[in-house]
Amino acid sequence: MIGGATARVPAKINLHLGVGPLRSDGYHELSTLYCALSLYDDVTVRAADELSVTVTGESRRQVPADATNLAARAVVALATHAGVDPRVAITIDKNIPVAGGMAGGSADAAGALLAAARLWRLDIGRDELLAIAADLGSDVPFSVVGGAALGTGRGERLLPVLHRGEMHWVLAVAGTGLSTPAVYREIDRLRARDDDHPAPAGTARPDALMQALASGDVHAAAPLLHNDLQPAALSLQPMLRRTLRAGREAGALAGLVSGSGPTCAFLCADADAAVSVAAELSGSGVAKAVRTASGPVPGARLIPTN
Ligand code: C5P
Repeated sequence: MIGGATARVPAKINLHLGVGPLRSDGYHELSTLYCALSLYDDVTVRAADELSVTVTGESRRQVPADATNLAARAVVALATHAGVDPRVAITIDKNIPVAGGMAGGSADAAGALLAAARLWRLDIGRDELLAIAADLGSDVPFSVVGGAALGTGRGERLLPVLHRGEMHWVLAVAGTGLSTPAVYREIDRLRARDDDHPAPAGTARPDALMQALASGDVHAAAPLLHNDLQPAALSLQPMLRRTLRAGREAGALAGLVSGSGPTCAFLCADADAAVSVAAELSGSGVAKAVRTASGPVPGARLIPTN
C-alpha cells in the first residue's frame, strides 16, 4: 500500500441559483449554474491506527477536527462501500472560506473520497463515486466534477456546461459565516411572509447565462448573474449590502452573494480589473479578507503528496 494520497479541490460559486419549492424531504428543488474557482483545499489521507482529522491554514479553528467533519464522513462512507478499514489520518490544508457559501466542506469531502480511493487502490467507477458524493451533500458531486455545470434536483444532478475563456473574480470574505440550512429557512420565511418579494427564478433553466458562458462573453454574463438566496443572506447579514455596493463602486461588472453566503463574488472585466477591484475593496474595510480567483477550473484531482 502507498503511504498517502493528496487531492486538490476547488471552491465553487453559483453563477445562477434558482430555488424552487421546499420538498417533502426538507430540500429545495434547484436550478443552478455552478462554476469552480481557483481557490483550493488540499486533502491528504494516510494509513493510521485510528481515524483522525487535522486542519491547517488560517481558518483552521472554525473547522471541526473530528469524525463530524464531512471529510471524515466521506472516508467512512467510502470504506463502508468498499469493505475496507476506514482508519486513516486526514489532513486538510484549508484555503476556501469556512461557512462562506463556496462549498468548502463539500470540497473536503470530495478530496477525501478521491484521496482515500487512491490510498486504498480501489477500482471504483466515476458514477459510483458520484453517488457516494451525493449522499454526503448536495454540492459534493460538483466538487468532484468541477468546471461549469448545471445542477438540478437538490443540486446533485449535474450536466456539464460549455464554457469558453476565463472569468476573473474578486471574493469578499465576511468575518462571520452563515449556516446553509438557516439561509434556506430564511428564504422560506420571506416567501411566506411577503408576496411582493422579488420574483424568484425558481427552477427555470438559465439559458441566456449558459449562452454567455459558451461564448465567453463576460459583459453579457454580468447582468444575468442571479441568486434566489441573496435576499435571505442579506436579511440575516444586512451589512452585505454595503459589501455588494462597494464592489460595484470599485469597478466590478456585477456582484452577488455566493450560494448561501456570506461571501460576495464580483465578476471583473479581466485579470487587471480584478486586481484593482480587490485593492479597492481591501481598503474599504467591508470584508475580513479579499481574494482574487478565476474560473471555471477542473474539479478534484490527485497531486503529489508532500
Ligand atoms: O446537502 P447539504 O447537506 O449540503 O444541505 C445542507 C442543508 O441545506 C440541507 O439540510 C437543507 O436545509 C438545505 N438545502 C436545501 N435545498 C437544497 C440544498 C440544501 O434546502 N437543494
